[in-house]
Order: sequence, then C-alpha cells, then structure tokens
Amino acid sequence: MNYRHAFHAGNFADVFKHALLVRILLYLNRKDAPYRVIDTHAGEGAYDLAREEADRTGEWRDGVGRLASVDRASEAGALLTPYLDLIGARDADGRPDLYPGSPMIAQKLTRPQDRLVFCEKHPEAYAALKRRFARDRRAKALDLDGWTALGAFAPPPERRGLMLVDPPFEARDEFDRLARGFSVAFGKWSTGVYALWFPVKDPRDAQALWDAVRTSGAQRALRLELAVAPPGDSGLTRTGLIVVNPPYVLGSEAFVLLPTLVRLMERTPGAGGYSIQSFGD
Ligand code: SAM
Repeated sequence: MNYRHAFHAGNFADVFKHALLVRILLYLNRKDAPYRVIDTHAGEGAYDLAREEADRTGEWRDGVGRLASVDRASEAGALLTPYLDLIGARDADGRPDLYPGSPMIAQKLTRPQDRLVFCEKHPEAYAALKRRFARDRRAKALDLDGWTALGAFAPPPERRGLMLVDPPFEARDEFDRLARGFSVAFGKWSTGVYALWFPVKDPRDAQALWDAVRTSGAQRALRLELAVAPPGDSGLTRTGLIVVNPPYVLGSEAFVLLPTLVRLMERTPGAGGYSIQSFGD
C-alpha cells in the first residue's frame, strides 16, 4: 500500500469531490432525523499543505490554490461558499492553514445527532486520523478494510446517510471492487446515498462502473465528471463522481458548479470540460 493522499490533498480532483460532498451533506441536514456518514477510504482527515509531501507535488496549487477568484456573489459562488468557509483563510499563494479532507468536512457539517465512521488501512494515515477525531464522540476511526466496511456498515442503524467510497485506485482491480462492493451494499441498503469517486484514465473503466450502477437496481443516479485538460495531457486530467440516490437538487447544482470549477482549475483556458449524466427522476 504505497498511496498517500498527503501528496494529492487539495488537488483539482479533491476540490471537485469535496465541493460536491458539501452539497450532499447540506441536503441531508435539511431533515432533523439523524444520519450516518461512512467514509470507507478516509485518509488522514485533514492535511497541512506546507508539509513536504504536498510541497513536493504542488498539486494543491492547481486545485484549492485556484479558488481565490471565486465570486461569492455569483450563483456558483453561493453554492461554493460553505466549502470555502470550511477551508478558511488562505495565504497569498492560495494555501489554507489546513486543507479539510472528507472526514473533516463531514465532521464540520454534521450535527450532534449524526454519526461518523472513518476507515483507513495505511498505518500512518490511520494514526493521524485516529488522533484527529479522538475527542469527537460522534466519530469512530477504524483500522478496517474499506471494502469490508462497504458491505458491513450497510445499512447503518439510522437508515439514513452517506457512504463515500474513495479508494486510491492503486490496483488494477479497483473499478471492479468498487462495482461489486457497491452492489453488495446497495442490496442491503437501497435508500442510502452513495458517492463513488473515480479517476478517468481509461474512459471504459468509468463507463463499466456506470453500467454496473445502472443495472444494480438503483432507481436514480448522477454521473458527474470534470476535466482540467484534454485526454493525453500529462498526469490525471479527468475525474468523476457517481452519486446514487442523489439529493434532488444535486443535478441542477452541478450544472451551476461544474462550469465554474472547470474555469477555475483548467490547465489552460478552454482546455477543460465537464459532463453530467443521470437516470431516474
Ligand atoms: N477520502 C479522503 C478525502 O477525500 O479526504 C481521501 C482518501 S484517499 C483517495 C484513499 C485512502 O484509502 C488512502 O488514505 C489509503 O491509505 C486508503 N486505503 C487504501 N486501501 C484501503 C483499504 N483497503 N481500506 C481502507 N483504506 C484504504
């Protein structure tokens, strides 16, 4: 297990994923009934972007580092404001004191009645995660395989909530594992919200995952993708999120958010793009 999210924290894929995660959680907050967030591949929880790992790749500069010019008065800016508030003040380079990963975003946006389960297998990342949430009695950090957690924690006792599946995609079989893991969890908990993150290196992998979701029995899903450069450019250029049982407003919010995120983070003007697909009502 070599992947360390500290090298990639705050990059364009994180900004895309986390901006959408914030919208999903705010929607879940509209009802008082408690819910649970299960983050199967949680990482460290939050990241100091001044640390050597983040500095070495500098990926955050083309992600969170590009958010300074967001116009909060615009429609997209209003949707991004809760995410920007979580990130907090940034220095002249656009670097925040601490970049919130998905666990910290969930911790900050959930209410006293909600519960949080974070799974992480990398020993150092797990130690950091456990330390960070030790004092929050609503949160449990577990040194547990995320693929096991996906099936084991569905359904949660609250029967409401979000399963975020954000694996590192180090191994070739992770698209298959994601499709199979989702299918098992969905079979046990068909009303949960599922957010499945993926990199788009070979579009056939993303399509196969979408096909698996379409044939899983799910009634509604959204497939959102954002590119910062055309295929063939160096490194990761395109990323996606499939949301099963998405909040009803998420599709229309994505039509506002994604063009703005592309404009902010594309490598050169006009090089990026986005796509939005859905099925169900
Ligand atoms: N969800 C995090 C966020 O948005 O801030 C980032 C997660 S990162 C993409 C993937 C994480 O999964 C890494 O921290 C890695 O150590 C962890 N990981 C890898 N294999 C795992 C497994 N089988 N079970 C749980 N965690 C795993």
